[in-house]
Amino acid sequence: MDFSRLALSGEDQAFLDKARSFLATHMTDEVRQRDRETGDNFDEGLHLAFGAAGYLEAEWTAASDGGMTRLQRRIWTLEKRRVHVPWVTWGTTAMVARAVVKFGSPELVSEVLPKVFSGHVRMCLGYTEPDGGSDIATCKTRAVRDGDSWLINGAKMFTTGAHNCQYVFLITNTDPKARKHKSLTMFLVPLDSPGIEIQGIRTVDGERTNLVYYSDVRVDDKYRLGEVNDGWTVLREPLNVEHGAVQAGRDGLQDTSVMMQQAGLMAEAVDHAAVCVAQADPDGSTVYRLGRSVARMEAALSTPNIFGRVAIAQTMRDISPDLMDLLGAPSALSSGAEYLYRFAPLMGIYGGTLEVFRNMIAEYTLGLGKPDYSAPLADRSTASRNGVT
Ligand SMILES: Cc1cc2nc3c(=O)[nH]c(=O)nc-3n(C[C@H](O)[C@H](O)[C@H](O)COP(=O)(O)OP(=O)(O)OC[C@H]3O[C@@H](n4cnc5c(N)ncnc54)[C@H](O)[C@@H]3O)c2cc1C
Repeated sequence: MDFSRLALSGEDQAFLDKARSFLATHMTDEVRQRDRETGDNFDEGLHLAFGAAGYLEAEWTAASDGGMTRLQRRIWTLEKRRVHVPWVTWGTTAMVARAVVKFGSPELVSEVLPKVFSGHVRMCLGYTEPDGGSDIATCKTRAVRDGDSWLINGAKMFTTGAHNCQYVFLITNTDPKARKHKSLTMFLVPLDSPGIEIQGIRTVDGERTNLVYYSDVRVDDKYRLGEVNDGWTVLREPLNVEHGAVQAGRDGLQDTSVMMQQAGLMAEAVDHAAVCVAQADPDGSTVYRLGRSVARMEAALSTPNIFGRVAIAQTMRDISPDLMDLLGAPSALSSGAEYLYRFAPLMGIYGGTLEVFRNMIAEYTLGLGKPDYSAPLADRSTASRNGVT
C-alpha cells in the first residue's frame, strides 16, 4: 500500500515520522552486515531497542487494550519491511506469547510476558524432529512425569532461532500408546536447562537454524501449557497462523497471505532485473520475457490466504532461474536474483511443504477428502495377477 496517497491524521503521520526516524537510527548497515554473516534473521541490539521504545508491546497488544491501531500496525509492518528488519525470532516469539497467555498459568505469564515486551525473552518453535516434520503429531520426543516435574528426552530438527531464544515451545509425546493427536503435551522449556544442546545448521541460502538435543531435561510442571495429552489444542492456533489459514481483513490493512515479507524479496529482485534488462535491451525480446515473470509474480502477490502462500513459494521457484538467466553472470552479484534462487526451495518447505499445503487445500478447502496413495486400479490388478497383495 502506498501511504503517500492517503491523507493520514496528524497522529498517524506523527507515528509514521517517528517510526521512520527510529528505524533510520537503529537499522544500520552494521545490523544488515551482521545479519548476513550470521544468517540469524535476528539482531539482539535492535530487538532490545524496539523493546525499550515500547514497539514490541504496542505491536503485540490489541488496539482495544492500548496497542497500535490497525492502521499504525500496518504502517509499522511496512516500514520495518522497507528497511529489511530481521523478522524471524520476533515472529515466533509473538505467536508463542499468545499461546502462553491463553494456556499458561498466571505465574508463567508474569514470568515471561514483561520480558517479551522488553525484548529480553525470545521464543522459538520446537515441532519438527529428525524423522519428519510434516506430520507433527508423530512426535517422538518423550516427556515423562517425575513428581512435580517432567523429564524430557529427544531431538528437534530446524529449531530456528534457538541460539537467540530463552524458551522453546516444545511439543512432546506423553502417551506413546494413545492415538497420535491425544498423545501430545506442550511445554515452554527454558533453553538454559541442563541437558539441552544446540547445534547450528546453515541452509543453502545462508540461513542459520538448529538441531536441538534434549537429554534428561528436567522441567517444572509450571512450564506445561494446556492439559496433559491435549497439546494438539495448544498447537492448533499457532499452526493455523503459520499455515496462513487465517482470513485477511477486508480493509486492505493486512497482508493478502502469509509470507508477504519473503515475497517482498522477490518483488525487489524483479524490479532490479527490470532496470537492468531495460537498460541492456530497450526494445528487445528480453523485456517481453521478463514480463512473464512479472505477471506470475503479480498474480501470486494478489492471491489470498493459504492459496497465496502456495502461489508465492511456487512462483519464487519458477521465476528465479529465469531472472538469473536474463541477467547472466552479474546475477551473482547484488541483484537479489541469485539469493532468491537459493531461498526459493526453502520457501516451499518451512512451516509446511508445498505438497502438504496442496493436499490441505484439496482436502479441506475443496472438500475432496483425504488423498488416496494406493496404486491406481490398473496397477492393482497387475499386482494381484503377479501374486502381490
Ligand atoms: C529454513 C527452515 C526453517 C525451519 N524452521 C523451523 C522451526 O523453527 N521449527 C520447527 O519445528 N520446524 C522448522 N522447520 C521445519 C519445517 O517445518 C519442516 O521441514 C517441514 O514441515 C517439512 O518437514 P520435513 O522436512 O521433516 O519433511 P518430511 O515431513 O519428512 O517430508 C518429506 C517429503 O515428503 C513430502 N510429504 C510429507 N507428507 C506428505 C503428505 N501428507 N502429502 C504429500 N507429501 C508429503 C513432503 O512434501 C516432503 O517433500 C524449518 C525448516 C526449514 C527448511
